[in-house]
Amino acid sequence: MKINDIKLGKTNCKMVIENSTPYFMNSLRRVILSEIPKLAVSYVTVYDNNSALFDEIIAHRIGMIPLPTKLDLLGFRDQCTCEGKGCPNCTVLYTLSKEGPCTVYSGDLQPQDKMWAPVDGNIPIVKLTEGQRLILEAEAVLGRGKDHAKWQVASGVGYKYYPIIEIDENKCNLCGKCVKACPRNILEIKNNKLTIKDIEKCSMCNSCVEKCNKDAINVKGDESKFIFKFETDGSLSAKEVLEKALEILSNRYKEIHKQIVKIK
Ligand SMILES: [Zn+2]
Repeated sequence: MKINDIKLGKTNCKMVIENSTPYFMNSLRRVILSEIPKLAVSYVTVYDNNSALFDEIIAHRIGMIPLPTKLDLLGFRDQCTCEGKGCPNCTVLYTLSKEGPCTVYSGDLQPQDKMWAPVDGNIPIVKLTEGQRLILEAEAVLGRGKDHAKWQVASGVGYKYYPIIEIDENKCNLCGKCVKACPRNILEIKNNKLTIKDIEKCSMCNSCVEKCNKDAINVKGDESKFIFKFETDGSLSAKEVLEKALEILSNRYKEIHKQIVKIK
């Protein structure tokens, strides 16, 4: 397996992986979607709420706010030495106290320490009019995407075969029908030749193949080469997500290996 092109931004990742299989790509995709630990609000104590929204809706909205996740500082609550009671090693506390008229934003959630402030402070929670109040306490804990969407770190996790576009220059009469048919606009006629502008944008829809009367163009996917993409909600960086996913996968394979050795 070989990664020959990786673009790692703060919250997004795109890489081209060679000599792999769809099964491996899919296992990586599934681990990124459902297994990476993430911090999210899971318990809310409402002291006062006479806003237009029910306590439950506000709690749900707060739960979905991305919080910075520091996996070296936090552990799962059910595995913690506090035995699930909640302590600084497994729980982050927030308070919120606002009185209208105003809009309550994610940035109004006051953490016990500034480093736990929500990733984006501009997510609206509820609008308060004159005389309306919202006072609450929230507890955030680590969880996994497979248990609830609020613990899902990444979105748009997917892969596709690396496109292969074959052009038979002897058959092509440069009619340009394929250029017009391509919804991603990746073909062009340049210097009396049909050329490909950006092959990675090709979705292999075959529109160009269907429009060509001369059978001069052929599109297929390379079954051993993939374009893998995902983006995070900012609670973890794309690099942290990738590293954690690979650690989880490798630990799982090690576990299987350990058990096979025992059988011998
Ligand atoms: Zn604890």
